[in-house]
Amino acid sequence: MKLDSENFPLRPAWTEIDLGKLRRNLQLIRRDLPPAVKLLAVVKDEAYGHGALDVARVAVEEGAWGFGLSTLEEAVHLREGGITAPLLLLGERQEAELEWCVTHDLTVCVNEPHTVRKLAKKAAEFGKQVPVHVKIHTGMSRYGVRWDEALPLIEKVVAEKSLSLEGVMTHFSQSDETDKSFAKLQLARFNDVLHALEQRKIYVKLRHTCNSGGYLDLPHAHLDMVRPGILLYGVFPSQVCRQLPGIEPVMSVKAKIAAIQKLKPGEVVGYGMRYTAKTERRIAILPIGYGDGFPRVRNEGCALIHGQRAPLIGGIAMDALMVDITDIPQAQMWEEAVLMGKQGHDEITVRDIAKLKNSVTYDVLTNWRLRLRRKSVNSHTESVKPHLGTAATK
Ligand SMILES: *Cc1c(COP(=O)(O)O)cnc(C)c1O
Repeated sequence: MKLDSENFPLRPAWTEIDLGKLRRNLQLIRRDLPPAVKLLAVVKDEAYGHGALDVARVAVEEGAWGFGLSTLEEAVHLREGGITAPLLLLGERQEAELEWCVTHDLTVCVNEPHTVRKLAKKAAEFGKQVPVHVKIHTGMSRYGVRWDEALPLIEKVVAEKSLSLEGVMTHFSQSDETDKSFAKLQLARFNDVLHALEQRKIYVKLRHTCNSGGYLDLPHAHLDMVRPGILLYGVFPSQVCRQLPGIEPVMSVKAKIAAIQKLKPGEVVGYGMRYTAKTERRIAILPIGYGDGFPRVRNEGCALIHGQRAPLIGGIAMDALMVDITDIPQAQMWEEAVLMGKQGHDEITVRDIAKLKNSVTYDVLTNWRLRLRRKSVNSHTESVKPHLGTAATK
């Protein structure tokens, strides 16, 4: 029996990816955007832990123009999975990667002249004209050529016959906070570059700047394409940005009760005896721990069982954590608990977990370990578009 075969028994702890909700989020975003603005779905880091190939397949059906990725492996993985849409590699490439980019029809972001020359040479070798996006740093001081030094690099790209200047882009360092002044400065610097290009009659098909925060809050910055990541997965980049109604989290984390213990007053729980029962207690053991990416908390946080909050007690272990189910007497072995996500009318949000971790939602989504297998659900909901009178005869 193979590990990836359908009847291999899943561990009683897993991440659940609701592809129906992903589809809905994509539809809501697509509907909110002006039709002329393209959508580049950012699926780096396994689509923020959701599984890049599954996410890309749904996103293609929902009108994504292409995908944003971080590493060569991620891009090759999508190509080998049959994704033919444009794949834009964000960040910088090592010289040895360029041939792979050319042979796999990947779109490269260029930040500096050496890469432009080497990429042009490789493209010519393979008889191809390769699209590139010039990344312009407008204040974030990460990747990209400085805004006030960008023109010569762009002209170099234009001068190379085996390259085509498809895009110019920048990235905001703060787009989802109430104070938009730095984002506005960055946009002004970017617009200066665009203006200079116009004067030189250099035409660029795709000018793009917006991550999720920019897309939500800076409509003037949408230009030709937006690059949302976290919002696709149903998590808002901040609590003060515009809220798009109907957006829902795609990922949940679940586990089944794998043991139940009764405690007498004075008995202790877990490593380090971090919890002592004051009265009789009934506790459930969930087979998930910090080795799966759950924050290493003690006596903090909770799980949802029968739609009720069961507080976490003691310190969490590598493979297990304990919750108090005294007030949920109906809870039984192998019933489902939700560690992140909805159950009944209650919800433990990604932000709740981020607080336990002293971190951000991005970190929570991407840091569930892979031994927590991903279970995709609802991959086919709402995908049926009404084509009247066709295909219905089968
Ligand atoms: C990660 C990333 C995005 C997406 O950011 P979100 O905040 O997740 O929407 C967009 N553009 C670039 C260049 C990125 O690196």
